[in-house]
Amino acid sequence: MSDPGVLGLFPPGSSLDQDGTLMVGGCRLDAVAAEFGTPVMVVDETALRARAREYLAAFRDLWPRSDVAFASKAFPCTAIQQLMSEEGLHLDVAGGGEIVTALSAGADPARMLLHGNAKTDEELALAVSNGVGLVVVDNFDDIDRLERIVEPGRRQGCLVRVVPGVQASTHAAVATGHAGSKFGLLPADARIAIERIRRSRVLRCDGVHTHVGSQLLDAAQLAAAVEPVAELGSFDVYDFGGGLGVRYTYVDQPPSVRDYAAMMVEKARGLVPADARIIVEPGRSMTAAAACTVYRVTTVKRGERIHVAVDGGMGDNLEVSLYGQRFEATLVDRVGGGAPVTVVGRHCESGDELIDLVPLADPVVGDLLAVPVTGAYCYTMSNQYNGARRIPVVFAAEGQTRLVVRRDTWADLLARDVPASGQSG
Ligand SMILES: *Cc1c(COP(=O)(O)O)cnc(C)c1O
Repeated sequence: MSDPGVLGLFPPGSSLDQDGTLMVGGCRLDAVAAEFGTPVMVVDETALRARAREYLAAFRDLWPRSDVAFASKAFPCTAIQQLMSEEGLHLDVAGGGEIVTALSAGADPARMLLHGNAKTDEELALAVSNGVGLVVVDNFDDIDRLERIVEPGRRQGCLVRVVPGVQASTHAAVATGHAGSKFGLLPADARIAIERIRRSRVLRCDGVHTHVGSQLLDAAQLAAAVEPVAELGSFDVYDFGGGLGVRYTYVDQPPSVRDYAAMMVEKARGLVPADARIIVEPGRSMTAAAACTVYRVTTVKRGERIHVAVDGGMGDNLEVSLYGQRFEATLVDRVGGGAPVTVVGRHCESGDELIDLVPLADPVVGDLLAVPVTGAYCYTMSNQYNGARRIPVVFAAEGQTRLVVRRDTWADLLARDVPASGQSG
């Protein structure tokens, strides 16, 4: 009767209470909704910490000199960056804003890597003055800027980003490794960049970087990151980027973190120096499965299709409209089962459809709907479209909740508007 699959998409350890209500982090989701309102993102803190440890152990067991850098952009709020730092991870920061949040999280700047294909003087100065350990050079202008910004007598650590020349089978918007990508330098140019950095008196070439794309479910495409960087020569650091896919739906079969690590390390042995340091930069596969979003059903419309509308949508989850990502869902107190409906959001676009043909057990107005695997790229792309108040983030662990990002207030919607100052004179 009930679909055995859907519970398995929620964070590990999620369960049903005695009355069948879904619990995440030991907290009933109806209680979380009552306390914090809807929509609300619930992060299972225990599952997230376990994932961070799993990643670090998987790589260090096989390659002791390896580091895992969390790609902050997947979930760049203070609490998440703090948690990752506490677990011993480094942090990728994409631009100045993520440096600011990472610093506010108390993260060690020496363990940050700055990314970006269009870094500004301001962002590079912020990185350099705060002691960000590695700037990932994406283009020759990065080098020009750094040479102006870094004070004589200091040396800024750099990695050079190379285009791996891999056509990843993922959505075009998140494939970054093909030859025409806007990210990184083609191998011949990467070699020139490395030489320039080596000759510089204020820069230090620590190594090389590449990143194939995101939501990669094919092991071979992930491993394809190794050779393009290894071919560039002998360095202290080889950074293979992120990209490991996650299980959003019943059919997705991503490699486990252990298998991913084994594959990357196997490829690295023989290709990169045995005493080099390996870095990987997971974002999506670190946080996605540790969270879910809880909505309230606001209307059920039975026409050509059954439209179940909820109080959120593309304001809190752009993965659907940007990449066509498929999600699953369940009612919170009637988990699994039911007939297929179309879950739509509250925004004024037909494209604001969260999930088509998802089975729900006779949804009615007022029901709570939980969408699993929303812990990556949802918070970070949340927006105020249609005057939506961006949703709160709640950590749940061992039956306790902790608010880590509050909901926007109505005042937040006006916070940047500069009131007219009367007659100008
Ligand atoms: C986005 C990004 C990542 C993380 O990718 P995921 O698919 O979320 O693991 C890692 N490194 C770089 C340079 C990125 O741009």
